[in-house]
Amino acid sequence: MNSLSKPSHSDLFSHLYIEESVLDEPLTKEIRAKFSKSKIIIIKHYKDVFNRPNQDFAVQSRSKNLILARRSAPFLYEGSYYSDGFEYENFFYTPSILGCLYDCEYCYLSGMYNSANSVFFVNTADFFDALTPYLEKPTLIAISYDTDTLAIESITSHTNAWIEHAQKNPNLHLEIRTKSANFKAIRHLASSEQTVLAWTLSPQKIIDSYEHKTPSLQSRLKSIKEAVEAGWRVRVCIDPVIYNEEFHELYPSLIEQLFCTIEPDKLFQLTLGSFRMSSTHLKRMKKLKRSDIAFYPYDVKEGIVSYGKTIEQEILHVMTQKALEYIPETRIRTWQLQ
Ligand code: SF4
Repeated sequence: MNSLSKPSHSDLFSHLYIEESVLDEPLTKEIRAKFSKSKIIIIKHYKDVFNRPNQDFAVQSRSKNLILARRSAPFLYEGSYYSDGFEYENFFYTPSILGCLYDCEYCYLSGMYNSANSVFFVNTADFFDALTPYLEKPTLIAISYDTDTLAIESITSHTNAWIEHAQKNPNLHLEIRTKSANFKAIRHLASSEQTVLAWTLSPQKIIDSYEHKTPSLQSRLKSIKEAVEAGWRVRVCIDPVIYNEEFHELYPSLIEQLFCTIEPDKLFQLTLGSFRMSSTHLKRMKKLKRSDIAFYPYDVKEGIVSYGKTIEQEILHVMTQKALEYIPETRIRTWQLQ
């Protein structure tokens, strides 16, 4: 694609909502300058737009907008039960961006928020300050938890800010989870053992069916290869596995494709996990009637829906056996209900 045909930021978001309180923030001004053709709407509080009842998540997903706002405490949340804390005593995620540019049908965000728009909190320094008391010990922060930070990096520079902050704080460890093909946005930074780039991969057929607006498998693999070759720690997450009658064809061959692209020795870790979600979020997803994934006859245990023990174990067994052809067990992590 030549530069003339590249979509502009204004094409990405037709409307930019800005909270009065952040109008004079330098980051707001920087971002606003990128949206010369978008309609700018000044608002009192982001919740007036983002939390408004009766919004149509499906309609908004087709044309998302961006809200710039100031976050007040809490700036950190304890790591969730649904994700791996990698044995860190301090494991948090940070809600500095809410909502995602991508539109995965299985995403819990559609069961959690009224809006498909994104909110970016521009007071990044307050998030860093909230973290300071914890940095006497190794602390893991998942910065891409309720979003995909790298997907929106050309607007926010948020991933860059966190990586640079980690470079100044040896106890700060980052997990940056993404489906983007946007390694180029951080390529200029020095790689560091403190930061793990965690790429989520799915077979192309699953991407086509369920991961709308996300980059293709090939372009994600290309970005992973560049990151690995530049010395970054890369964790590939084949998680969530979406189980269907083609599972045995699609997923083992995804592992083959991965290791045909990158040298097995260079992959930091591989995470495997099957689809799971809180039953509350699933109920809301069902109401949206957007995806067959919401209507699978899941098992429910302690408020969590999953494929149930038998299928879950089959998924993990098949995939682990395939992965063991390339890497040792010590570099494979799995998620399953206890
Ligand atoms: S990339 Fe992640 S956060 Fe974004 S829509 Fe997909 S699952 Fe949700």
